[in-house]
Amino acid sequence: MIEVDRIISGGRIILMDEKGTTIQEGAIAIGGEEIIDVGEREVIIGHYVSKEVIDAHGCLVMPGLINGHTHAAMTCFRGIADDRELLDWLNNYIFPAEAKNVNKELAYWGSLLACAEMIKSGTTTFCDMYIFEDETARAAKQAGMRCFLGEVLFDFPSPNVKTPAEGLAYTRMLLEKWADDTLVNIIVEPHALYTCSPSLLIDAKTLADSYNVPFAAHLLETRSETEQLHRKLGKKAVSFLKDIGCLNERLIAFHCVCMDEEDIRLFADHGCKVVHNPESNMKLASGVAPVPDMIKAGIVVGLGTDGCASNNNLDMFQEMDTTAKLHKVARLDPTLMDAQTVIRMATCKGAGVLGVEDLVGCLQVGMKADIIIINLHKPHLTPMYNEFSHLVYTVGGADVDTALINGKVVMQNRRLLTIDEERVMEKVREIAARVKRSLDLNRK
Ligand SMILES: [Zn+2]
Repeated sequence: MIEVDRIISGGRIILMDEKGTTIQEGAIAIGGEEIIDVGEREVIIGHYVSKEVIDAHGCLVMPGLINGHTHAAMTCFRGIADDRELLDWLNNYIFPAEAKNVNKELAYWGSLLACAEMIKSGTTTFCDMYIFEDETARAAKQAGMRCFLGEVLFDFPSPNVKTPAEGLAYTRMLLEKWADDTLVNIIVEPHALYTCSPSLLIDAKTLADSYNVPFAAHLLETRSETEQLHRKLGKKAVSFLKDIGCLNERLIAFHCVCMDEEDIRLFADHGCKVVHNPESNMKLASGVAPVPDMIKAGIVVGLGTDGCASNNNLDMFQEMDTTAKLHKVARLDPTLMDAQTVIRMATCKGAGVLGVEDLVGCLQVGMKADIIIINLHKPHLTPMYNEFSHLVYTVGGADVDTALINGKVVMQNRRLLTIDEERVMEKVREIAARVKRSLDLNRK
């Protein structure tokens, strides 16, 4: 018998491999950060022993979800302004609230609250863009979450940096500081083509290339942005990105609502990645991204929630449900975006977007043990004919019972083991009271 650090025993295991394999009564042996073995329960417990056995009978066991696009600290602005036009929302609520309130303290506690919410709804990896990302890195590290983070880069000042050059220098500092970390990965994130000059985009791309990390930005989120860019650049945005050498397999584009056939072909030809954020696109009435066409063209498409001011939560189960239904109704075709395709976006394809498909997003020997366990013993989850259908159309974030990241248990029986949930909520309530006062003052 081989001794391992822990064994998840029993339950239906969804591997999220190419074949869509599920094991009816399985078990997983975990050693250190990795999956040592996975298979039929009888076989695994016949080969391995452990002092720590997690009983998953009556549960679904699957790879942790990957939230491909967040602004974690914006949990502090959850519900600050809803049901408004994008520009009214941005210029009169979000930008003033950020200018007056975003500091290291907000970034840290807001990010830690986001980590608590994400773990409690089954996310184990997230990709984040915001201000003071070193604080988000510290929060993720505290939470034990895997993350890909980049300081947002603009032409104009942010509460953290005064110039584009300072933004690039801060990003370089992050790249050096977190270079050897197992959980925190730094990437380069210019905000968008309408907020970054071509020279900033090229400098950011050069920095990403020199560290061999992803280069990520918002792209073609709304029709007015798309038209505005066309006028400003004198060509289509994706053609412009091609001309300045930004289209490659390390480019990650968020939203891509207004991509046409030619854009999709260019993205597919260059191996560029996309993160779909349907709930944010619906709430801001931005439109419906042509995701079925992107997937058909061979583009790797992940799924994200976007920030809490435009969603207003970080629940990837809700996001999956919305994804499946949105595309069906938009094209009046119920066969589009079947459950398994959608779950892939939130797991193995999400890992592909970040370039870590060999590490996470799938339960295979040698991969990192990022695993969630969903308790099925509930009225709304009874009966279960098809586990993929259940995961997309029935399970909610609150059904996730236990979560492991990098082999470590971060939540057990819905209790967070790395975060003092009460203290984080108290801190964010204090910050929110200050945010509210600053906005009230603004309106006088
Ligand atoms: Zn965003």
